[in-house]
Amino acid sequence: MASQIREWSGINSFAPATQTKLSELLGKLKQEDVNTLTILVMGKGGVGKSSTVNSIIGERAVTISPFQSEGTRPVMVSRTRAGFTLNIIDTPGLIEGGYINDVALDNIKRFLLNKTIDILLYVDRLDAYRVDNLDREIVKAITGSFGKGIWNRALVVLTHAQLSPPDGLPYEEFFSKRSDALLKALRLGAGLKKSDVQGYGAPVVLVENSGRCNKNETDEKVLPNGIAWIPHLVQVITEVALNGSKSIFVDKTLIEGPNPNDRGKFLIPLILAVQYFLVIKPIERAIRSDVAKENRPSWEMRDTEKTNRKI
Ligand code: GDP
Ligand code: MG
Repeated sequence: MASQIREWSGINSFAPATQTKLSELLGKLKQEDVNTLTILVMGKGGVGKSSTVNSIIGERAVTISPFQSEGTRPVMVSRTRAGFTLNIIDTPGLIEGGYINDVALDNIKRFLLNKTIDILLYVDRLDAYRVDNLDREIVKAITGSFGKGIWNRALVVLTHAQLSPPDGLPYEEFFSKRSDALLKALRLGAGLKKSDVQGYGAPVVLVENSGRCNKNETDEKVLPNGIAWIPHLVQVITEVALNGSKSIFVDKTLIEGPNPNDRGKFLIPLILAVQYFLVIKPIERAIRSDVAKENRPSWEMRDTEKTNRKI
């Protein structure tokens, strides 16, 4: 199986400075005995999930589309580099026609069965100005599928990060307003309390997938805030991978919920006890009194009949 995984040669397409940083980060993971990372990418359709997968891999590994016709099946891309394996699972958008796409969600869950999710990239656009009910619904659907613990392994990724904020807002201020609004939706949608997640939410990172992304003097792709985003994204992924929380193993009970046949099994002894005292006992009593009557001598019965007739 391992021999079939392709070499992560896309790294060679990055600027040398980016390559050096990535090698360091992969070295750090291996030092901590993390030799494989499986990253799940989820979000609405058209936000840049597939483009982000390609940006990380450094090649056109999955199809991107400006239109929301992504199909309904996830795709896993695997690459190895110096003994380290990266698996990235690109998924179809979770929203269709204003509702959660249950077929897509179901396919994603089936696809993930018996796999371990180390990292969730929850993708949305930086240049979206509203957070609505639908955002909360997606978060709810993800939480319902994989449990609240998934948010300890999550990053919020905001694409289209090369933008000039509206109304003359400074870039950092726009970024922090957008992040705060999304993180609030995330906490509400996931039903998170402060104690549920480390650091009260997921780290938010910026991404610019466009080929027109600006570059710095060392040829690295940079954002308006000057950050070289590819190494920064991988750095935050590394931090989350090493934050001490548990990866999510997707087993049958996780995706199907507890077996309905097992539900209420604990009530069985109680029901038996109730049956014994309310049904069996009274019947026994009735039988005993019948038997007692039967045992009375027949003349006694005759006498009673006579008396009855007299009356
Ligand atoms: P998905 O449906 O979430 O997988 O989104 P895609 O990756 O297919 O992208 C949808 C469209 O947005 C495509 O036309 C991409 O070229 C474009 N796109 C994705 N990410 C970015 C980004 O960061 N910046 C810009 N300018 N366009 C992007
Ligand atoms: Mg896609």
